[in-house]
Amino acid sequence: FTEEMNAIRACVNEHLEESRKLAAHGKVASYIPELGAAPREALGISILDKHGHSVTAGDCSFLFTMQSISKVFTLILALMDRGEDDVFSKVGKEPSGDNFNSMLKLELVEPGIPFNPLINAGAIVISSLIRGADSEEKYQRILSFFRDLSGNDKLDGNTEVYRSESATAHRNRSLAYFLKDNGVLTDDVEEVLEVYFRHCAVEISCRDLARMALVLACGGTDPATGRQIIPRRYVQIAKTFMVTCGMYNASGEFAIQVGLPAKSGVSGGILTMVPGRFGIGVVGPSLNPKGNSVAGVHLLESLSREFDWSMF
Ligand code: GLU
Repeated sequence: FTEEMNAIRACVNEHLEESRKLAAHGKVASYIPELGAAPREALGISILDKHGHSVTAGDCSFLFTMQSISKVFTLILALMDRGEDDVFSKVGKEPSGDNFNSMLKLELVEPGIPFNPLINAGAIVISSLIRGADSEEKYQRILSFFRDLSGNDKLDGNTEVYRSESATAHRNRSLAYFLKDNGVLTDDVEEVLEVYFRHCAVEISCRDLARMALVLACGGTDPATGRQIIPRRYVQIAKTFMVTCGMYNASGEFAIQVGLPAKSGVSGGILTMVPGRFGIGVVGPSLNPKGNSVAGVHLLESLSREFDWSMF
């Protein structure tokens, strides 16, 4: 154990219990009905270093669906499948400053091209760029990529959450049909949406998230084996999007308060990292009005301040 890991271990429970109190001020997302059942007070964190040492606290075995966190990795897989030029002819590189499911600014970068790959419209386009003969093969390729990165062969989709989202996703469906009308999506819309809803519904713990984050923190290599899983350039692109748009329209504030690349999801997960050093997974289902885990963000603020983690 390094000195810093020992120091984190010594104070993490206290910070976590302090942050947990804030959960009472937020709300669990319920627009996907199945997510509404999550326990509001749950809060867990897992921090993993390059030597395989980990610090965990709170509800770190609690299982939740990745939701928007999965978008970081489908972006990377699309880049590996298609290359940068192809991907960025279909999605932009700019923050939208809008809520995650906004339709308003969809057209502003270039006609019809979503602002970035982390907003829903952009992530739906990314789903269509994953190679595979049909939606099943595309999803299976995504799932095996997630398993590879997390080192967890048992990662799998939560069928109830997938069905619950698919049955109620009127806004995402309308976004996708709009993209089809503009010619940005060329595949069958329902097939693309199936891939998107299924990768959002992959179930994970914050321990798994920390492993995935550590690969990004290490420039795409798995520190356990030294294997380069993701080309460095694509990790750089993904981390940049995480800084500029990873926390919805609170990304600027998160950059000031925490100062780390991060991606959150509506089930309350946050994937973040201290580049070159740690992978971090957090979960706390109670969300603030911007859609980020209220206790999770507070916990990361406390730790970042205490250990001077900000990149800036
Ligand atoms: N599957 C969710 C949706 O499209 C993901 C949203 C999120 O986590 O931001 O609404």
